[in-house]
Amino acid sequence: MAWFTRQKSVRQPGVPGEQQTVKTEGLWLKCDGCRQIVWRKALEENTQVCPKCGYHFRLDAIARLSYTGFDLGLAILAIFILFILVLRATNGRRTN
Ligand SMILES: [Zn+2]
Repeated sequence: MAWFTRQKSVRQPGVPGEQQTVKTEGLWLKCDGCRQIVWRKALEENTQVCPKCGYHFRLDAIARLSYTGFDLGLAILAIFILFILVLRATNGRRTN
């Protein structure tokens, strides 16, 4: 009964099995405004605005700050330096 069972895998020689599949998951998004398929990279270059209809996709806080040029690492460094300056000015003592 070997007619209905595959004995050998049908793969191209020289190409591993994982590399034969094309992974397209996550590359495309469906726009809620115009129902068109939008390439995710085009959406990111257009600051999460649909290039076809102008629909604004949701942004999380970090993404919104990154589009404005905000650098989270620089902000943490500034807070750390400010903390050190306050400790040096008060000499580690409480003021009240
Ligand atoms: Zn759209």
